Amino acid sequence: MDKIRHECDVLVVGGGPAGLTAACSAAQARVRVTIIDDNPHVGGQIWRREQRKQSAPEAVEWVKKVQDAEVELINGATVFDYPEPGVLRAEASEGVYELSYHQLIIATGARERFLPFPGWTLPNVMGAGGLQALVKSGLSISGKKVVVAGSGPLLLAVAAYLREQGADLRLIAEQAPRRRLVPFGLALYRHPRKVLQLITLEKQLLGVRYLTSCWPIAAEGDEKLRSVTLRQGSKTRKLACDYLACGFHLVANTELAALLDCELREGTVHVGDFQETSVANVYCAGEATGIGGLELSVVEGQIAGYAATRQNEKAQALFGSRSKLRRFALMMDCAFQLRDELKDLPQPETIVCRCEDVTLEKLQTQTGWNSARMLTRCGMGPCQGRICGSAVEFLFHWTPKSVRPPIFPVRLESLASMSGASEGHREFFVEGDL
Ligand SMILES: Cc1cc2nc3c(=O)[nH]c(=O)nc-3n(C[C@H](O)[C@H](O)[C@H](O)COP(=O)(O)OP(=O)(O)OC[C@H]3O[C@@H](n4cnc5c(N)ncnc54)[C@H](O)[C@@H]3O)c2cc1C
Repeated sequence: MDKIRHECDVLVVGGGPAGLTAACSAAQARVRVTIIDDNPHVGGQIWRREQRKQSAPEAVEWVKKVQDAEVELINGATVFDYPEPGVLRAEASEGVYELSYHQLIIATGARERFLPFPGWTLPNVMGAGGLQALVKSGLSISGKKVVVAGSGPLLLAVAAYLREQGADLRLIAEQAPRRRLVPFGLALYRHPRKVLQLITLEKQLLGVRYLTSCWPIAAEGDEKLRSVTLRQGSKTRKLACDYLACGFHLVANTELAALLDCELREGTVHVGDFQETSVANVYCAGEATGIGGLELSVVEGQIAGYAATRQNEKAQALFGSRSKLRRFALMMDCAFQLRDELKDLPQPETIVCRCEDVTLEKLQTQTGWNSARMLTRCGMGPCQGRICGSAVEFLFHWTPKSVRPPIFPVRLESLASMSGASEGHREFFVEGDL
């Protein structure tokens, strides 16, 4: 397989809002900036270009700034390895990139958290953002009966989007209790842009039932989903549906940062005032540092870009906005905390790791994440624990001790490119864990 060497001063991994804004800010220092992203187009989860639809004006503006600043874009390439300091490897259809950089900005975003419950592996039970992404790329949802369930503001955004695309929205079920959501809603008045977003969402969702303290306990169907059963207090209700869009808030994508040995705290990349990680010349911005929403990602991205290119005054000028947005992120975390009852959702025979068909009962006899991996293969399949990992953490409080490359599944030829460069690779198994 072809090896493609690429050199730049600042490498940004992730082309979402944090990555794009970081690249623009860094480029103001007239250095060579490259963004690498695994999608065919930049934009990340929210600004990703949709088929048949104009992108959001803010997205168009930032993408134009990136182009004007002559930032180099490498799309459709997944960073999977860190062979040595100052070098990353990425797999693309055209070959394996070896990317050399002086400064690195990690802007790898977040993914949805899935929790297992009976029937969650049935076809047409999907992540809320996952279903949204499928519809954005062409799946027709018009006239389909959809239940949106789980937790977090993403549920509302997805529901509004699906309704706009013609879905027949049956219910939005939020596990968080009203007593947590009301103070969160009231505190929004300090963030006029978010109030505006909420008002727009309310208008778009007029007439759709939104139940709090309500969550799915089972999805039913034969070959595919036919209905979902939800609990609210002592009541249960069964709703016929074609799709269940279900996600329990978001978790940060920290694998690349962990591979580089950056300090993690509570499942997010720990950064200082200038978005610097614990590793020299490595910065991190956006949802990888904590779930905070679009505006925080944009501000953090700019700070990281300025800081990585020694434009410290410009970075400092943004500290105030970041503090305000971080306070909002903390409130959001508190409002959408997962309730303990969700730990009782999976039954002994419920599959937790869907790549390797590992059931709850097989995990219940394990002592930790490493023994679960070694003895049941939980988290060892193609998703590498991206789906089951956060569920296992919630159910058992087990966290992986370390990561090892490749952090994404890659082709054998790409794996071969790793041979001879393993000194920097961390050992996966930690002595004494079994
Ligand atoms: C599934 C999903 C749907 C969402 N939908 C909405 C919505 O409708 N409305 C809303 O307000 N907010 C939504 N959000 C939240 C919103 O995406 C974030 O607030 C915002 O996009 C965060 O920006 P970011 O740049 O930190 O991360 P992202 O936008 O997630 O960008 C990160 C980018 O890095 C890429 N990447 C990660 N790892 C690698 C790697 N190793 N190699 C190459 N590329 C990599 C990812 O593919 C992605 O393109 C959604 C989040 C998710 C997870």
